[in-house]
Amino acid sequence: MISLTEFTPLIQTNIKTFSDLETGYKKAIRDVGLVTPDGILSDWLSSGSLYGVRLNRNTRGVVQKILLDYKRGYLLTRRPKAMAALIARYDKLGFNTLIHSGDKATPFGRALLKAFGYEDRFRSIEKKGLWLASILNIKVCPYCNSQYTMVVRKRDGSSFGKFQFDHFFSKDRYPYLSISLYNLIPSCASCNHKKSNDQVYLNRHFHPYHDDLSSIAEFHVKYPADPSKMSLQQAMKLKVEDIVITFRPRVREVKQYVKVHCDLYDIELMYKRHTDIAHELLVKAILYNQHYQTATLSISNLFPSRKVLLQYILGNNLVNEKINQRPLSKFTIDVARQLRLIR
Ligand SMILES: [Zn+2]
Repeated sequence: MISLTEFTPLIQTNIKTFSDLETGYKKAIRDVGLVTPDGILSDWLSSGSLYGVRLNRNTRGVVQKILLDYKRGYLLTRRPKAMAALIARYDKLGFNTLIHSGDKATPFGRALLKAFGYEDRFRSIEKKGLWLASILNIKVCPYCNSQYTMVVRKRDGSSFGKFQFDHFFSKDRYPYLSISLYNLIPSCASCNHKKSNDQVYLNRHFHPYHDDLSSIAEFHVKYPADPSKMSLQQAMKLKVEDIVITFRPRVREVKQYVKVHCDLYDIELMYKRHTDIAHELLVKAILYNQHYQTATLSISNLFPSRKVLLQYILGNNLVNEKINQRPLSKFTIDVARQLRLIR
């Protein structure tokens, strides 16, 4: 989950909380030097035509409602639940079929998307996308916890992004949420492409600002023999092909939810490639056992806690709140817990 209480920005900023971020984000959208969506929608209503798309009675009603909600501040910084409620309200009014039909956006839907200017604000100019990503400073894809999603600084001081913004609610289906702060998830290209324009629902699909997937699901490694009874020699001789990695729900009630996530982003398929890491973790668990840890902690007086010592031994974050800082943190924490390295 992306914490909604605190973050550590990459750039110097006065933004300290998500409430600050919401205020800063609204300002950033205004300051990018483009006409704001409300200005474009107003022009569309008065001229009757935008990007060659003429309004009829139905589509005029859609634009009027969206313009009103934009002015009320409903479309830029609504949190996930409020966005889902907005979609439900618009669907009831029949907006969805006017915007998206079959498996693609209608000409009206495409014009609406252009009016919100996601491409110009986040792609062509890139400034606002990088600005947002630099503040959030989420270094790892929140969907897979496997790939880096970083903003990188060049020597000349400029930056570029090694990530893509996934629209949790597809921009083709819901163009009015295409520049909504909590609809823009910095993610890896692979997860972004896998999800594509799929129809998603907040109660069925993992939204990194809304749910804490790591608390309800875990990686589990099945070793060919009981890890607690294995000697170092036996562990070293294990074949990685005999190790089985699964991603499973912690309680039965979320079984379907976890399966949907797993299937959508190929989580298990991807992590099955990490049997070598699961093997190394087992060897480390035996090598750096409780005796080693206790001895190190008592002699050196360098490590404030066992967890910090283990972080160095295992080479990853072992704190749930920091799993978006390093790839495979979630996997490492779960396997370390399974091997009773951490409790
Ligand atoms: Zn990913």
